[in-house]
Amino acid sequence: MKRVLLLYFLLTGCNHIPDIRWDNELIDGRLMYGHVPPNTQIYVDNTTKNNGTKGLETLPIKDGNFVVGIPQDSKQLRLKIKKDGKIKDLVFNVSPRKWQEDYVSGLPPKKVNPPPEEQTRIQSEFKKMRQKRQLSDFNQFPNQWQRPLPSYKRISSPFGSRRILNGIVKQGHSGTDYAADTGTPVLAAADGKVVLTHTDMFYTGGTILVDHGYGVYTSYAHLSQIDVKEGQTIKRGDTIGAVGMTGRATGPHLHFGVSWYGVRLDPEDLFNQIKSSNAN
Ligand SMILES: [Zn+2]
Repeated sequence: MKRVLLLYFLLTGCNHIPDIRWDNELIDGRLMYGHVPPNTQIYVDNTTKNNGTKGLETLPIKDGNFVVGIPQDSKQLRLKIKKDGKIKDLVFNVSPRKWQEDYVSGLPPKKVNPPPEEQTRIQSEFKKMRQKRQLSDFNQFPNQWQRPLPSYKRISSPFGSRRILNGIVKQGHSGTDYAADTGTPVLAAADGKVVLTHTDMFYTGGTILVDHGYGVYTSYAHLSQIDVKEGQTIKRGDTIGAVGMTGRATGPHLHFGVSWYGVRLDPEDLFNQIKSSNAN
């Protein structure tokens, strides 16, 4: 009996192909690169995405490659996979990260919450950004990245850091802040299509939003200059604008954000990842 079992495991174990192969460890705030065998479909519950819709959706896959974003503080990633007509539930454990916390107290309440007379404007700007993030039609697979500033003074605020203002825990920082001089050229972090430009948003001032395909977007904020137009296709490394301190900024810096269907992800992590693009 033992021998039969051993033979069974040898035969099946040797041919076993994992449902999904990941390039890196699953950690929260990370854009994961995954690979699946041919003729596989992946479904994600829309609560995983952050686009305000409900239900199951298929993930776009290119030659067996796909991306999925893990929100900050997530403990598990749940996906459904369809292979040879069979649907299977997959649950992956996510390793937690320790996020920076900055305590600020004694601020006047006005500074902690935006003034009520600006709420309408703020809400309509959020809505506009959210809508633009749902219409991804750029078909290139986003796996070639570079920092939008080849050189900068320092990271003045990392992704995910939480400010606790007068005891109120604010949402984690949605991007990375790179301190740099006003006028420093800002480069496209990857090939893509410009889907929004705005010279004066309440929080982010001069803003560019770029679609990189497969649900991945980058945003560039507080710009003093915008050199691209909505609808324009751009290449990685193209100059798209210049560093400034427009919107709510206390000094010149670039706020750089990366998102997957509205889920905010750690930009710096993207530049340090190993990404293989061969399926299996
Ligand atoms: Zn920022």
